[in-house]
Amino acid sequence: NIMNSFIFRFAPSPTGDLHLGHAYSAFCAWQAAGASSANFKLRIDDLDFTRCKDDYSERQIEDLKWLGLSWDEAPLYQSQRLGRYQEALAELKDRALIYPCLLTRSEVRQILSAPQADGSLRHAITASETEKRLEKGTQPAWRLDMERIKKITPELTWHDENYGLQIVDLHKIGDAVIARRDIGASYHLSVVFYYADSSIDIVVRGRDLLADTAIHRLLQFLFDLPTPR
Ligand code: GLU
Repeated sequence: NIMNSFIFRFAPSPTGDLHLGHAYSAFCAWQAAGASSANFKLRIDDLDFTRCKDDYSERQIEDLKWLGLSWDEAPLYQSQRLGRYQEALAELKDRALIYPCLLTRSEVRQILSAPQADGSLRHAITASETEKRLEKGTQPAWRLDMERIKKITPELTWHDENYGLQIVDLHKIGDAVIARRDIGASYHLSVVFYYADSSIDIVVRGRDLLADTAIHRLLQFLFDLPTPR
């Protein structure tokens, strides 16, 4: 059975104890992997050091084992791969596909909710105001420059087993944050390299992440990385 050789993953964020949603999601992936520890990998999404604790990941791992799940490879901790993700970020900078954003959260909210808003934040503050904020030592967040990306991106799609053919809507993605100011990377940037480096074939996860998958598909196109099912 060819299904038996596909690689699956479960990727909890250690921001608390394992909850029922985790357990259900993990169990679905585990069953899809044929309940085979050779085909099941664990990724610990601990990039966000403001919310993640080692204590939680240890307890989550214990609970997953208690549920009967197993994996041959040692769990991969995203925080240990920050260098890899910062290289990717540097490449995006070199290619001018991202720009530094110094807007506060409330400024972003205000701009995007204005009636004439087109999703772009690029020109929301003047170059001199940007300069001023940088001088004050404010770290920028890095956002996708959708204005530029739109010009070089063909129609992108991916296939979802439950929801069918998905078409990437660049307008909906907008100038998404690709590196947070405090972390220097993001979940989005990290997962696409993780899939490629860990040879993930099929991603089984919660419906709440369906929309985010469009960002991942776009990044896969920009970096010429494979798209798992
Ligand atoms: N760690 C994230 C979460 O728990 C993402 C999981 C994933 O990509 O499957 O929501």
